[in-house]
Amino acid sequence: MIQITMPLNFLGTVYREIRQALVDMSEMFDLLEQPADVTDKPDAAEIAVTGGALSFKDVHFGYDAARPILKGVSLEVGAGKTVAIVGPSGSGKSTIGRLLFRFYDVNGGSLSIDGQDVRDVTQDSLHAQIGVVPQDTVLFNDTVLYNIAYGRPEASRTEIEAAAKAAKIHDFINELPEGYETQVGERGLKLSGGEKQRVGIARTLLKNPPILLLDEATSALDSQTERDIQDSLSEMGQGRTVITIAHRLSTIVDADEIVVLEDGVIVEQGTHDALLEQGGRYAAMWARQASEDEPEALAG
Ligand code: ADP
Ligand code: MG
Repeated sequence: MIQITMPLNFLGTVYREIRQALVDMSEMFDLLEQPADVTDKPDAAEIAVTGGALSFKDVHFGYDAARPILKGVSLEVGAGKTVAIVGPSGSGKSTIGRLLFRFYDVNGGSLSIDGQDVRDVTQDSLHAQIGVVPQDTVLFNDTVLYNIAYGRPEASRTEIEAAAKAAKIHDFINELPEGYETQVGERGLKLSGGEKQRVGIARTLLKNPPILLLDEATSALDSQTERDIQDSLSEMGQGRTVITIAHRLSTIVDADEIVVLEDGVIVEQGTHDALLEQGGRYAAMWARQASEDEPEALAG
């Protein structure tokens, strides 16, 4: 028995290691890799971002030819402006972000940054200009230091700590048993959702991109943590062009423009006040969320 269980335990460990390695690889794929069919043109230049103005012109896209997802989306985002995209689940919000990152190429229309079509520039230079904070920040099985530095691996320790301070996670890290050297992730210290998002914000601040994509960055958090993190996200958005995809409308009332996406088309567009005034889809969504929030508001 002993002879059998030992190798089995050993195999179990190896299996877990391999499985974890695969998880890490799939995460890396999400963050870094391109599908094979998206490649740099032979003469692709590095993107030159001046203000970070975004222009979506009549964008059509589907993951499969048979099923269109975006059906003619046109959207101009001025340099330094914040645009919020809201709409039902499955309406194509995250797809817009993936196209901006050029994980996929559009099937029709175009998408450009400061006048440069994303298909004409190198993917490396494009990715360097866009910071993404997803719903769940992926932590690597490594130190806190590594996890923040991932935003810009050549950053100095001082820069990393400055980013952590700006993300309001520095004090927390200092109190960990091994400080910045503490191992986190699946095999190390498990951070709470809010702490992970702060590591993600620090990582992005370190990268210092002119364009930010926040895809439901706070929607997995409880509402108090969401409010705390929201402040850090708003600060991070200062002086950058921001696309924020939001589930909870209370987080986007200050956006320069709110876009309501439904089934791959923009059905409403305007400021929070203008859209409430309009009394359409957004106003209805707002009323619905306000009534859902009421019990919590009453509870204090
Ligand atoms: P949202 O972010 O608004 O919830 P998404 O942009 O993620 O919606 O997805 C829009 C539609 O595209 C959904 O119906 C979704 O199932 C589909 N979709 C998303 N990713 C893929 C993919 N990789 N392959 C095929 N279909 C996808
Ligand atoms: Mg989404």
